[in-house]
Amino acid sequence: MQTVDVGELSVSAYRKVAPDWIVEPLLAVAERLRGARVIHLSATPYGGGVSELLRSAVPLYNDLGVRATWKIINGDPAFFTVTKKLHNALQGGTEPITEADIRLYEETSRRNAEQLSADPDFAGCDFVFVHDPQPAAVLSFSDFRGGKSVWRCHIDTSQPAPGAWDYLGKFVEGYDATVFTMAGFVPPTLSAERADIICPAIDPLSPKNMSLDDRTAHAVLNWIGIEPDRPLVTQVSRLDPWKDPLGVIEAYRLVRPEVPGLQLALVGSMALDDPEGWDVYRRISDASRTDPDIHVFTNLTGVGNVEVNAFQRFSSVMIQKSIREGFGLVVSEALWKGTPIVAGRTGGIPLQVADDAGGLLVDSTDGCATALLELLGDPARSAALAASGRERVRRHFLLPRLLLDELTLLDGLAHGDPPGSLMTRSDHRDPVCGLTTPPGPGTPTAVRDGHGYRFCSHRCRSAFLDEAS
Ligand code: UDP
Repeated sequence: MQTVDVGELSVSAYRKVAPDWIVEPLLAVAERLRGARVIHLSATPYGGGVSELLRSAVPLYNDLGVRATWKIINGDPAFFTVTKKLHNALQGGTEPITEADIRLYEETSRRNAEQLSADPDFAGCDFVFVHDPQPAAVLSFSDFRGGKSVWRCHIDTSQPAPGAWDYLGKFVEGYDATVFTMAGFVPPTLSAERADIICPAIDPLSPKNMSLDDRTAHAVLNWIGIEPDRPLVTQVSRLDPWKDPLGVIEAYRLVRPEVPGLQLALVGSMALDDPEGWDVYRRISDASRTDPDIHVFTNLTGVGNVEVNAFQRFSSVMIQKSIREGFGLVVSEALWKGTPIVAGRTGGIPLQVADDAGGLLVDSTDGCATALLELLGDPARSAALAASGRERVRRHFLLPRLLLDELTLLDGLAHGDPPGSLMTRSDHRDPVCGLTTPPGPGTPTAVRDGHGYRFCSHRCRSAFLDEAS
């Protein structure tokens, strides 16, 4: 089983960017876990949010004294076609999972379990963190004993296709803890009390998110064929139908006549575990062929972290027109660079783009076009939204907060807390939405506005709207 090589990072570097009320308790909980051994198991070392997270989180676990490694399951293209089908079905897709799919999924999981059981890091491991559906069945075929297991779901499983969760849930039930991005994602048949809620986060110091001066960003974009002096809107995401790249092209076409010189960049990555990417790539290439101002880039044509950084920094407005979304790290990435965003009102996106921070939430292609026109035509408003969005990311969506939540979860498991008690175990979390909150007087409580909407103290109205008059 492949172990991913990661670099070395130091938590002390994050003191300058993340709030103290996150870093201090992080150091304290890490101390209690010093020497513990953790394996993170996922499906791909590149492409998509999970690999983005683990690449920075794993070295930081080690810097904090928790001995972590990151391993990748093995699977052939047929296996990853099945797991993408399962991923889609869990997000509500309609393509059926067949008996043959299940056989292939379980055979591959069994083979991975054998490899994991033979891996020297596995023997005596204290915690195994399994990410997403692709490796979810592996542990149940392994001889993991003595340690605690966590299944970490990064996708929206609130409305799975009939049968999809019934199947995967059998494996998930065997874990000591399950973690979802939002309470709303916990599938109907999994007891909500058994689930813990943790939002992902971005690494502010990674090559993708570190500060990049204007001249360098300018030069990087110029080099790949963008004219930096003309307005630019960009979507960065895996080439996945749930990210609606064709809808982005349509919205751009509606906006283009009103904004002279507008360029659109679609920056998409191909992930090892996402065979649908090529099909989507063909469709967006066909749809954009006749317009030289639509630029399509991928990681296979040299658009890597620094280029994505330049796009997110230099675009007039970023777009994330997702139809379904787990969290959408790209949203926080854009906001962290001070760029406003127009984004689909789905999944974890409204956590990041609140009513008055970050940008505008949309529900349709027309809505996307209107929102783009609003922001492109009002630089002062865009700048104000971007500034409040960056502060929101600083408080809630930087890596030290994610580490604090994960280590608090592991600490609780090590001490026999039942699954689902993270919220009560941490004093740094809002009791309604679970987002981080500074200690001290004025503990936040839910509030209502004049229309009867219920907000958490962070004004996560869209995400936590549970009563509307
Ligand atoms: N990404 C990238 N290059 C691309 C497209 C995406 O580096 O061409 C990165 C993006 O910057 C983000 C991650 O892939 O860090 C996508 O994570 P997100 O949570 O937005 O979506 P997911 O792919 O996990 O559904």
